[in-house]
Amino acid sequence: MLVLTFTNLESNKSRMTTKQLLNKYYKKKKKSKQKVKRNRLKTFKSRYFYYLKSKKWAQIKLDLYESRGKQCEVCESKRNVQVHHLSYKNVFNEEPEDLILLCKNCHEKEHGIK
Ligand SMILES: [Zn+2]
Ligand SMILES: [Zn+2]
Repeated sequence: MLVLTFTNLESNKSRMTTKQLLNKYYKKKKKSKQKVKRNRLKTFKSRYFYYLKSKKWAQIKLDLYESRGKQCEVCESKRNVQVHHLSYKNVFNEEPEDLILLCKNCHEKEHGIK
């Protein structure tokens, strides 16, 4: 009986060590996954940032101004008209229906800033 208890203790101990080792391994794995996710987000953000300065985006904006008139599609204000993404599903290759023209005021409302 006493021997059995000892054996149990011993095996418990070694099982714990394995578990701890596994935990360590999974923690490391999780961390690097988070890092990848963060980097991907960073890449998207910087790509989007440069895209907003690209000729392509400038042309998309011009086309929208031409086809819809350079005014807010919500309140019809002609001041500080900006382009807002209704959907990011075609980001970097937007269709006109993915975008809406908004004045600064309505745009900030849309983003919950005001
Ligand atoms: Zn507006
Ligand atoms: Zn927006």
